[in-house]
Amino acid sequence: MEIKIIKTPPEKLKPKPKDESQLGFGKIFTDHFFNMKYKNGKGWHDPVIEPYRPLQLDPTAMCLHYAQEIFEGLKAYRGKDGAIFLFRPTENIKRMNASAERMCMPAIDENVFLDALKKLVILEKDWIPHSAGASLYIRPTMIATEAALGVHPADEYLFFIVVGPVGAYYPEGFSPTKIFVSEKYVRAAAGGTGFTKAGGNYAASLYASRIAANMGYTQVLWLDARENKFVEEVGTSNIFFLIGDELITPALTGTILPGVTRNSVIQMARHFGIKVAERQLPIDDVITASQKGTLKEVFASGTAAIVSPVGQIYFRGKEYLINNGKTGPLAEKLYNEILQIQYGLKEDEFGWRVKIHG
Ligand SMILES: *Cc1c(COP(=O)(O)O)cnc(C)c1O
Repeated sequence: MEIKIIKTPPEKLKPKPKDESQLGFGKIFTDHFFNMKYKNGKGWHDPVIEPYRPLQLDPTAMCLHYAQEIFEGLKAYRGKDGAIFLFRPTENIKRMNASAERMCMPAIDENVFLDALKKLVILEKDWIPHSAGASLYIRPTMIATEAALGVHPADEYLFFIVVGPVGAYYPEGFSPTKIFVSEKYVRAAAGGTGFTKAGGNYAASLYASRIAANMGYTQVLWLDARENKFVEEVGTSNIFFLIGDELITPALTGTILPGVTRNSVIQMARHFGIKVAERQLPIDDVITASQKGTLKEVFASGTAAIVSPVGQIYFRGKEYLINNGKTGPLAEKLYNEILQIQYGLKEDEFGWRVKIHG
C-alpha cells in the first residue's frame, strides 16, 4: 500500500520549541500525522500523511461509548551525523496487533505500519530534539469510528500516528520515586485486558493513582486481582526487584503489559551475568527482604524513562526505604547501556536499533 503524502504549506508550519529543557512530555505535536481507515469488507485503505488536524467523529462513534481503543508508545532518537533510530519498533507493532485481537479490532499489516512510522518520522525529522536524553515520542492509536450505539465490535476504524518532541526524563539526574501498594483497587484481572494497551485500562487506574498522589506517592504498585498478594506492575511501567543476587520481575500471566523495555532489561541483565527470574513474587517476600536487608534495588521499566528507580515503598501503614532512597548501581548501569544503544552511542549487540535515516 502506497502512503500518500500531503505536506503542510511552509507558512502554516508551527514554530519549533526553542528551549528543549522545557519540552516535558506529551504537550507538543508536529506538523503532520499519519492516518488510514478500515471498513469491514474493504479492509484498510487510504493511508495518508497529511497536515495535523483535529479528527471529525460522529457523537456516536463507538470508541467514545464502549472504549474500543488501543494505542502504542515508542520513540525516535537522534544520533550523530544526522542518524535517526527507532528502538525495536517491530515489538510495538506486534503488541498493537495483540491488543487489536483482544479488543476485536482489525490487525494492521506489519510492513505498512513500519513504513508509516518511518515515513512520518523522517518527514518530521527536524522536530527530533538534539539535547541528550530528549527524543521524538510516537503514539500510534486505533479507534472504533462506526456511528452506532449498542455493544458490538465496530465495522469501521481509524488508525493514526502522531509524533511530538519530549524532553529528557532525568534532566537533573535520577530521582527515585515513592510508591504506594494498592490493596483496595486493582489494575487488571486474570482473563481481562491487562496485557493490552487499551485506553480503558488507564481510565480504570486513575482513582488509585489519585489516592496515592494525595498521600504523597508518585505511583501505585499494583497487586494481582485474585489474591491481592503478588506484585504486578507500578503505575504504567513494569517492575523489577533485586533480592540478594537475583533480579525478579513478575511473569507475563496475561494481567501484565509485556513491556519492550522489560524484555530489554531482562536480556541485558542476563548479558551482564545476572540471574533473572520471571515469576510470581508475593509482596510479603518483598517486605521480608527489605526487613532482612536483602532487598537491594527496586526499579520500574518503560519507554518513557527506560529505568525508574524506586526509593521507598508504602505498605499497610509503613514505609520501607530501598537502598537508602538512592538509585542503585544496577538500575543506573541498565539505564546507561540501553540509552547508549538507543542513541547509537555504542555497538548494538542485541540487534535492537533500527536506523531509518542518515
Ligand atoms: C506501556 C506500558 C508499559 C511499558 O512498556 P514499554 O514497551 O516498555 O514502554 C508497562 N506497563 C504498562 C501498563 C504500560 O502501559
